[in-house]
Amino acid sequence: MVRARGVRKSYGSNEVVKGIDLDVAAGEVLCLLGPSGSGKSTFLRCINHLEKIDGGWISVDGELVGYRRRGEKLYELRDHEIAQRRSRIGMVFQQFNLFPHLSVLGNLMEAPLRVRRERPEPVRRRALALLERVGLGDKADAYPRQLSGGQQQRVAIARALTMEPRLMLFDEPTSALDPELVGDVLDVMRSLAADGMTMVVVTHEIAFAREVADTVAFLDGGVIVEQGPPGQVLNNPSQERTRAFLARVL
Ligand code: ATP
Ligand code: MG
Repeated sequence: MVRARGVRKSYGSNEVVKGIDLDVAAGEVLCLLGPSGSGKSTFLRCINHLEKIDGGWISVDGELVGYRRRGEKLYELRDHEIAQRRSRIGMVFQQFNLFPHLSVLGNLMEAPLRVRRERPEPVRRRALALLERVGLGDKADAYPRQLSGGQQQRVAIARALTMEPRLMLFDEPTSALDPELVGDVLDVMRSLAADGMTMVVVTHEIAFAREVADTVAFLDGGVIVEQGPPGQVLNNPSQERTRAFLARVL
């Protein structure tokens, strides 16, 4: 579902992603771990072309991110084509980024109505079903400010799901939450994974990675230092840098 080869990204002269190779099969969960500044968010943003890469390539579901291949040549996609592809990739951030002036239901319906121009009634039914799914069936008419952080994050996940994504990207979705609110959000993510959603999750929740990830990749200094099944990378890392990192977060 996701393939990355030799992916590089610089900000000015500062190269922060230095040649990443990665595969995530359909239905699999990849957890990305690594210290602050190691390039996790940058790489995640490259997957849906929020950042343009400087080298290598990424494909999602067989389509190159940001480009179309014709014969030997690569052509950059137009903005509307980028937006169209991005609309099938859900992204959930540390900060929930809900629309404050819209109700919960309004937040969920916004993209299907505006981006896809779907008819309101089916969208409404889908949105309400998704709210039930994340345990917020009774909050459709609430506004974001009336919800706890954990509830807002579950709304953000449901909102991403209204676009029927083939891939979900999570960037430290529980890092901004009070500890007692983390569990509900992780439960939603766990159930998504169990339903076969392909997911790339940047997280410091080692227990979650151990339980849910098919693959754990440890990033440091813009490169993948080590990747493999969680039992191997988390319990028996082969690299000193991974060991040192785990010793600090566990
Ligand atoms: P954290 O765990 O703190 O979220 P991270 O692994 O997600 O860290 P990134 O946010 O990807 O790290 O940042 C990697 C490096 O790129 C950092 O040195 C950061 O300062 C730099 N960087 C990130 N975004 C930008 C930007 N828009 N412009 C310039 N430099 C940036
Ligand atoms: Mg980050």
